[in-house]
Amino acid sequence: MSAKMIDGRAFAEMLREQVSLEVARLKENHGITPGLAVILVGQNPASQIYVRNKGIQTKAAGMASFEHRLPDTARQADVIALIERLNADPTVHGILVQLPLPGHMNTEAIINAVDPSKDVDGFHISNVGLLSTGQKAMVPCTPLGCLLLLRDHHGSLTGLNAVIVGRSNIVGKPMAQLLITADCTVTIAHSRTRDLPELCRRADILIAAVGRPGMVKPDWIKPGATVIDVGINRIEEASRSRLVGDVDPNAAQTAGAITPVPGGVGPMTIACLLANTLTACCRTHGLREPD
Ligand code: NDP
Repeated sequence: MSAKMIDGRAFAEMLREQVSLEVARLKENHGITPGLAVILVGQNPASQIYVRNKGIQTKAAGMASFEHRLPDTARQADVIALIERLNADPTVHGILVQLPLPGHMNTEAIINAVDPSKDVDGFHISNVGLLSTGQKAMVPCTPLGCLLLLRDHHGSLTGLNAVIVGRSNIVGKPMAQLLITADCTVTIAHSRTRDLPELCRRADILIAAVGRPGMVKPDWIKPGATVIDVGINRIEEASRSRLVGDVDPNAAQTAGAITPVPGGVGPMTIACLLANTLTACCRTHGLREPD
């Protein structure tokens, strides 16, 4: 039996349409245009593609898009001064600093310079604290996208065993917080975990956020489990490159449902960024937040 493919592309498109409708409503009823500012430091090729896509999709949703590009020779103080200007700018409701930053910069200091109410990536320490205490927070986009796909597929997640492979601040840890709040029983695995295959075999929901192509094998998966593959790995093959996930594609023979790469979690991330920008805008203006 082959797993159901969870179509993140279609879900993301639906989410972006909902956001566009809300943006149009905000403009018409309140004369407000949500604005997203993206800061890119340096020339990282993957980051340049992400930033370009974010700009295109922001504008397509009817929002204002502000792009700020700094050379990789920029000083940390220059980035923080720019963030402070954007914090004070009423036309900017969301600020995103594209990661990774050049090695001479302190990523935490820069992220924590963003006004938490404009922190649409949800990486500011205040939002991390709010999320981990179950309070209203800005939720990191990739885990939020995974949660939306899981809720759409399962309905209630109550009582399910979730195993998350990866403990990064941007995916693994916030994913765990969201699933705990959704009443899953959550285990986080990492590079020092013992007998990872056995642990994974206990999961009703298995989330792979590792950055290792095809690491999760078909026999690591409980028959019928839902597998969310967050990994985006570029591999070179026969002189061309392609994207693959952290899960071996043959896992579809064992899983009940699985997200493909590409076309699974990836498109959800930008859609959730737009949704977070809309949410930030509504909160700033004291308006009802979209559901
Ligand atoms: P990080 O490198 O920050 O974290 C990777 C995690 O995987 C770490 O916790 C690490 O453990 C763990 N790990 C590494 N090797 C193993 C192993 N052999 N066994 C078990 N655990 C292991 O990565 P990110 O969280 O930033 O990203 C993970 C993946 O998700 C990447 O492929 C990335 O490209 C992708 N990604 C996709 C996004 C999307 O939009 N779909 C957005 C963000 C990321 P330890 O902590 O012990 O080192």
